[in-house]
Order: sequence, then C-alpha cells, then structure tokens
Amino acid sequence: MISVDNALKIVLHDIKTLGREGVSLTGSLGRILAEDIYAGSDIPGFDNSAMDGYALKAQDTAAISRTGPKVLTVIEDRKAGYISRRAIKNGQAIRIMTGAVMPKGSDSVVMVEGTKRHGMDSVKIFKPAKRGDNVRRRGEDIKKGERVIAKGTRLTCGHIGLLASLGKAKVLVTRPPRIAILATGDEVIDVDEKLKPGKLRSSNTYTLYSQVLKCGGIPKNLGIVKDTPDMLEARLKRGLDCDMILTSGGVSVGDYDLVKLILAKMRTDIRFWKVAMRPGKPLAFGLIKGIPIFSLPGNPVSSMISFEVFVKPAMLKMEGANGSSAKMVDAVSEENITKRKGLRYFLRAITRWEDGIYLTRTTGPQGSGILKSMALANSLIVLPEDDEDIDKGVRVTVQFLD
Ligand code: AMP
Ligand code: MG
Repeated sequence: MISVDNALKIVLHDIKTLGREGVSLTGSLGRILAEDIYAGSDIPGFDNSAMDGYALKAQDTAAISRTGPKVLTVIEDRKAGYISRRAIKNGQAIRIMTGAVMPKGSDSVVMVEGTKRHGMDSVKIFKPAKRGDNVRRRGEDIKKGERVIAKGTRLTCGHIGLLASLGKAKVLVTRPPRIAILATGDEVIDVDEKLKPGKLRSSNTYTLYSQVLKCGGIPKNLGIVKDTPDMLEARLKRGLDCDMILTSGGVSVGDYDLVKLILAKMRTDIRFWKVAMRPGKPLAFGLIKGIPIFSLPGNPVSSMISFEVFVKPAMLKMEGANGSSAKMVDAVSEENITKRKGLRYFLRAITRWEDGIYLTRTTGPQGSGILKSMALANSLIVLPEDDEDIDKGVRVTVQFLD
C-alpha cells in the first residue's frame, strides 16, 4: 500500500496546468491569474490631497503655535478632477477637496476643521502644517513597473480593485478544469428518485459536484450507473471530453467492484490503488486515454476526504494556483483517540481558538459512512502514519477545511 505523500507525488507529477483564456474583470473573481501583472503607471498618478482643506506652504504656518492664527489669501477653489491654473506664493492658499491635484507651490494641506474662511478671499489657519501633511504622494500605493500581482494568484475582491486601478479591463486566467463525476452502484439512486427498500440516495454525486465548484472547476455530472460492465464503460466514455474524471464506489474488493476491471479493459494506466489512509483506503488513480482519473471510494466520508487530499491539489495544479497548500495548525486534543499504526488518519473535527491556543475535538462517531461527521466539521485532525493512540491533552496537527 502506498503512503499518502508518495501517492500525492505521483498525482502531481501526472497533472499538467491547463491553458489560459482572457476574461473580463467582472468575471475574474476567484479565477487563477495566468500572467504577472505589472503596473503601467504610478498609483496615485499625481500628488493629491488626502483631506478637504487648504493647500498651502507649510512655512507660512510655522509660527502659528507661538503667534496665533495666520490669515492667508485664498486664490482659488479646487474640486477633485481638475488642475489648478495658478501656483501658490507665500501668504496664499487654495481651497482643495480630497483627491484634487496638489497645486504648484503648495507642499501641505491643513484640513478644513483647522481653518475659518472669511469671505471669498481669505482664510484663517489655526493649525500649523509640516511639509507633506495630508498629501498622498504620487506612486505611494504602486510604483510604475512594480509587479503588483503574481501569476498563480487566486483573484480576490482586493486584487480586482487593483486591476481596475491599473486599467486592466481584461485579464488572462487559467481555463477552469472540466471534471466528470460518475457514481456507481446498483443500490444508488438519484436525489429526486423515490426511495425503495435497499436503495440509498447518491450523496457523493452532490458532495463531489460542490467540491469541484469550490475548487474553481466546472463539474459535469455523468449520473449514476449500475454495476454492469457495459453500462459502466459506456458512461465512462462520456467523461473523456473532460480534463479529469472522478468515479465513486466500486473500487474495493467486493464481487461487484467493477471500476477497476473496466479501467483495465479501457487500458487505463493505473498508477496506484489503495492508499495507507483512513478513511479513503480503496482509492485508485490513473490515466485513461491520457486523462487523469480518480476512482474514489463509495463511502460518503471517504469520497469527500479523498477529494480533499488528492483531487483538490490536482485541480489546483491544473489551474496553476500558487501557495495552495492547506492551512495547518497545532491544536490540543480534547479527547483520547484510538489509532492503528501504519495509516494516516483524517478525523473530522471542530477546532476553535481559545485563550491563545487551538483546541480540537472530533465531531463524534467517525465511520466512513457517517456523513454528519463531515458536515459538522470545520477541520481535520491529521494523525501521521507512525502515531498510535493519542491521549487527551496531546498536541495534534489540524488542517482547516475552507
Ligand atoms: P463501494 O465502494 O461501492 O463498495 O461502496 C461503499 C459504500 O458506499 C456502500 O455502503 C455504498 O452503498 C456507499 N455508496 C456508494 N456510492 C455512493 C454514493 N454515490 N452516495 C452515497 N453512498 C454511496
Ligand atoms: Mg458499489
């Protein structure tokens, strides 16, 4: 049986990053940037006022604290968006609004609260200014030529604001991976079918579908097939126009575990089968006609965990995402945990921050069919292969689910 780390290495080795496409800025949220973004201009593009107030020469206000308020001549009123025609000389000020270009000759702004206007032409300044006060310098946010956002970044609202400021109405992002999802099993029916004795609804179809969406992929639901070789083969073929195929069920050692059989028949290059983990042990990965295929276990929790551990990193590599490794923290276990040596465990847990440390406990019974354990969890307790039973109070590694 292969270890989780080695299995993941094989997966990542076999996955290639997809091509890129241009999207409009409004359609780019959550997409992975496929180009480095360099600033074509300074931001802000000019020295401007950070406040509503009066632009002036700081030296004119230097004596205020000793000799009292100073009266200056107002030579102009300046809104944002327009350039002052006149330059300030000693003893003069220009009324200025936030974002307006600093007039020639001025070096600082006294905010309006520190002044009193007298008629059109003069203002009394109560507060002294130092050079640069309330001035936003050209390029203080971004310098022309600077690399602002790196290729491989998943675009957030803040990035989109920067891109807009830089005039990037279109950006290059990685094409989203199309992922086929196929559930198997004679007992498995769809969500809107009537339940009959011995049948159960396919939760895997929908957990996998939403997991794919969450990772930025485009799911293609191939539905549910019975454990019949011909049907399975025919349906799998419908996934061959995708970038990756996920099947669930039929990969353990039962008599009806046909997925392996059909994969072999379709000349799949099986790279591994069975990983030393719990849950999720019966998992196969290979390349079918060059397309990566994961045959995930049928048990609902195993299927979700296998996705987290293998499919998600594979999808992120397809998308060319940087810094995509899961957020891990140290936490103190609030309970005793029984563990068998040799397997890596992924226990569904609730982890919280309390008095400066993370505390973690499982979500209750951890059977691989107990989907509630996953639904209640915000994290996974990851116990390495070599660990045995864990006592309450011991530090464990926790991986947050997002
Ligand atoms: P299998 O791997 O096919 O032996 O399935 C293992 C367990 O998972 C069985 O109890 C199945 O009934 C269950 N199972 C298989 N497929 C699904 C599915 N799509 N949704 C929910 N449970 C499933
Ligand atoms: Mg089955």
